[in-house]
Amino acid sequence: MLRTAVRMSRASELATNYSAVKTAVSSLSPTTRLVCVSKYKPASDIQAVYDLGQRHFGENYVQELMEKVAALPQEVQWHFIGSLQSNKCAQLAKGIPNLWVETVDGEKKAKKLNDARAQSEHEAPVHVFVQVNTSGEAQKSGMEPEDVPKVVDYILKECPKLKLAGLMTIGSIEQSKGSEENKDFATLVQIRDSLEQALDITGLELSMGMSSDYEEAIKQGSTNVRIGSTIFGGRKTKEEVKSQ
Ligand SMILES: *Cc1c(COP(=O)(O)O)cnc(C)c1O
Repeated sequence: MLRTAVRMSRASELATNYSAVKTAVSSLSPTTRLVCVSKYKPASDIQAVYDLGQRHFGENYVQELMEKVAALPQEVQWHFIGSLQSNKCAQLAKGIPNLWVETVDGEKKAKKLNDARAQSEHEAPVHVFVQVNTSGEAQKSGMEPEDVPKVVDYILKECPKLKLAGLMTIGSIEQSKGSEENKDFATLVQIRDSLEQALDITGLELSMGMSSDYEEAIKQGSTNVRIGSTIFGGRKTKEEVKSQ
């Protein structure tokens, strides 16, 4: 009895948070995709939000993601948004039917994802974003802007099992706090524009914006926002999880 009551209240808390974010995103841009970032949160949280109609979820850690894939409906569109290791590419591409990898940062990893997908039972291509370091901070992951055209070209020409979705960035914390235009997001827009011109393509997406800065990101053209704590609440840090 008590357990049911607790579970009910968690589900209603998630419903309230989710619908507020969903409304905020779609009122700014009806076509921007909302990815609910569920790292460190239980599969039951994801199921509750899935039951409200949400299909796109984001995860940062391969093992945690694989456990959730096994526990949740096949229809989930999983976005891998964590730091991508070469030796984990095959596991992702082989094991997940509906997969988006937002953190591709080089040709080798693109090739590993492509080759593993070719050997898998899954027909659907892996959607990929190339991650760009727009803030220039040394500790930020992602490719240097000048290295992006080559990997994009490689994905388009050499990776039939990958579907290039667009470019992704995280941006600096400092830029996410200001109320003016976010320079890191503006940089990603600029890189996208010159890339489309150089390669004579259109329609590249921009994955930018998290809980603290998604409204500004959408105003600057984001088509894919990744929102965690505003929906699921605060979470432990990586260090806190490790020390348990
Ligand atoms: C954790 C994470 C998010 C979500 O962050 P919140 O601030 O909780 O919305 C988005 N993108 C990436 C790459 C993340 O690692």
